[in-house]
Amino acid sequence: MPRSAHAASRGRRRTIALLLGLLLAAATQVPAPAPVWAQGGIQVVQAPAPLYNFGDNITFVVAAQSPALISAATLYLDTGAQTPAVWHSDPFQPARQVTATVAFNLGLNPLPPFATVDYWWQIEDSAGQKLTTPRTNFVYEDNRFAWRTASSGSITVHWYRGDPSFGQDAADIATAALPNITQDVRAPLPEHVNIYIYATDADLQAALGRVGVAYANGHADPRLGVVVVSVAPDLRASYNLQIQIPHEMTHVLIYRAANGNYAGVPYWFNEGLAVMHQAQRDSNFPTLLAAARDSRQFLSLSSLCGPFDPAHVSLAYAESESVVRYIRDRFGAEGINRLLTGYAGGADCAGGVQTSLGLSLDQLDADWQQYLAPAPETVQQRALALAPWLLVAALVLLAPLSFMLAVSRARPPG
Ligand SMILES: [Zn+2]
Repeated sequence: MPRSAHAASRGRRRTIALLLGLLLAAATQVPAPAPVWAQGGIQVVQAPAPLYNFGDNITFVVAAQSPALISAATLYLDTGAQTPAVWHSDPFQPARQVTATVAFNLGLNPLPPFATVDYWWQIEDSAGQKLTTPRTNFVYEDNRFAWRTASSGSITVHWYRGDPSFGQDAADIATAALPNITQDVRAPLPEHVNIYIYATDADLQAALGRVGVAYANGHADPRLGVVVVSVAPDLRASYNLQIQIPHEMTHVLIYRAANGNYAGVPYWFNEGLAVMHQAQRDSNFPTLLAAARDSRQFLSLSSLCGPFDPAHVSLAYAESESVVRYIRDRFGAEGINRLLTGYAGGADCAGGVQTSLGLSLDQLDADWQQYLAPAPETVQQRALALAPWLLVAALVLLAPLSFMLAVSRARPPG
């Protein structure tokens, strides 16, 4: 990770505040604070949690002492993605007591939003001694908002706009969705699932856009067991929560079932499963599918293996769900599971369908279109289908008519 040359000035002000705080603590605490960690002659006196402004800047501080001159302080950061990032502290004059800082720009060096970040320090002195502090961690939450929380089992919902019943509703929806999802996606739930609910798309975009995370309506970072959605606490809140939360939680479980091969799961399968498990159906999808069927303009299933074309994204979601629903109707949850296992094992889009369902991708596509609805009938076919009914109707109408005719003829002229 490149060292940021220019920490934001706000970061510096916070660093100064932090340092003053440390000095004040040192001045007012009698006797001197016990070392937090000691190893050889080196003692770490203070290593508070970092201060940060989400998406902007972060500052870590450590205070240490040693009988020899302390010459270096290095910070290690582990977000679970790659090897730990290494940050050397700002330069300081070697001394027996030092306060070292690491400050960097989070816009240039982003941390994954809502990740639990592990960090530890290594302190060195001129006698060649080293002290490595134990790993500790903090949650890199969007601290521009005052989040409230509600929990249900292993699920914690975080929200900042809306009353407590809004958060509890979200937690209940998440809990209720789980049994259905795990029938199809047989993966253990992460120990903790954290669901963050932004009140507006703009707030969500501002948060995730800062770190370059692409998102549609919602966003899941399945690796972290984090779900981020945008739902306003308005009259449609419950409906929107029932769409977005089960959808994103399905992605989290697919990630776990995919066993390290999440990127290899075809989009139609991943999104189809997620849409199928929404507690509310998207009311546009039946219309979209009917229109595509009538105009014979379905997107081919093979074109939905990778990222969806933004020009046809709604139809892509609608088709994906319909195909996955068809697979479950025809092959059961077993079929869904065989497919998922195939993709977890590294099968490609068509290969997974072939080995798990015994069909080529094109055959699956054709079978699904057949199942979705028969081809529209021609006018002659419709007339032929109606003929027997027309005959019955004619006979039914003919009887009273001929009776009336006979009556009118029998009447003598007036
Ligand atoms: Zn999705």
